[in-house]
Amino acid sequence: MLDPKRTIAELKELRALTADEHGAQRVAWTDTWLRAREWFAQKLSSLPVEHHLDAAGNRWVTLPGDSEKALVLGSHLDSVPNGGWLDGALGVMAGLEVMRRFAEQYGGRPPVTIRLVDFADEEGARFGRSLLGSSAVAGTDSIAADRVRKDKDGILLENALRRCGVEIDRFPEAQQERRNMAAYLELHIEQGPVLESLDLPLGVVLGTKGVERHAITFHGQEAHSGSTPMHQRHDALAAAAKLALEIRNIAGAHPDAVCTIGSVKTFPGIVTAVVGRCETTLDQRDLSAEVLARMWCEAKLAAERFAAEEKCSVEWSRIWSIEPLPFHPELVELCAKAVSETCGTAHRLPSGPLHDAAEIVRGGIPVVMMFVQSLRGISHNKIEDTREDHLELAVAALDRLADSTVEWILRNSQ
Ligand SMILES: [Zn+2]
Repeated sequence: MLDPKRTIAELKELRALTADEHGAQRVAWTDTWLRAREWFAQKLSSLPVEHHLDAAGNRWVTLPGDSEKALVLGSHLDSVPNGGWLDGALGVMAGLEVMRRFAEQYGGRPPVTIRLVDFADEEGARFGRSLLGSSAVAGTDSIAADRVRKDKDGILLENALRRCGVEIDRFPEAQQERRNMAAYLELHIEQGPVLESLDLPLGVVLGTKGVERHAITFHGQEAHSGSTPMHQRHDALAAAAKLALEIRNIAGAHPDAVCTIGSVKTFPGIVTAVVGRCETTLDQRDLSAEVLARMWCEAKLAAERFAAEEKCSVEWSRIWSIEPLPFHPELVELCAKAVSETCGTAHRLPSGPLHDAAEIVRGGIPVVMMFVQSLRGISHNKIEDTREDHLELAVAALDRLADSTVEWILRNSQ
């Protein structure tokens, strides 16, 4: 029988094993992370499953079924430094509970193969490369750029992986794990305040938002703050400040869009000088590629207008971007059904943060995610939390979704 209370007890066990007074310390490729994974492997010993690490260090647990077609459940055990107890770990441990239920109900042989994955290095906390393990599975990895990444102590990513028995040159072999993968389901904490504000325990995730991330630099003229009249200034900060307010209007035209200017640096950055150069960053996100493209265009036009108003110039360079990754429409419907049967209302929302699920979409696999409410919307912090009754509902809803997805897989393979 499904036992959601056991999932909560195990998450607390993991917290006791891998957290200190500042929070969870399961940073990928560290000893604490290895300890967490060892603990997880021990949990598997009483189940009729095979498990192994793939070429990118992801752990795969397989309960063979009558059909080779596989339902895959998963998330990640790694955390950011001083992280929370639920981010990632919830999806893995809830997946384990669902797998136990399948093993028990079908006498060790469910109608389709059930797999559980703990992806390696979702957070990218040490080397600045998120979704490392899942990108290898999806075949969207970037080995050449990643192998030479260094952590803050100057240790190469390639060497840190080798210490854990992972050779980066063998990453492409991890794509084998996609064979027979018929669907991927991931339960995750929301990490934002939306479900709490609606007073709902669970949400149906429509996909992960695309991201446009740009460096924007305004060029004006450094000048003495005492001798330069106001109307003769070329104030680069004034132009940037206008943009920082305008992006609220740009995002506000779309219900789920967000735009953030998260960094502003002024030069020369002293109290007695008009700002001659202002470097800012813009991060824009939405679930629609069209909206994303329009918002970028609007921000660019606005920046040019404000630069002209302040007698400055502006230049842009793209830092990074990723396309929106909508989840599978039929799985989204199954998830909505599971959520509404569990707690009455199925609210649909996009995910602002990226998740391993996004890489699996890029790998061509049908995917859906379910969110459970985060208290105060806080994550990546030791105060990250979720009500225990909500965690229990989440495990139960994931279990329902797993059942209906197995039926869906069987229908599709006839
Ligand atoms: Zn996560």
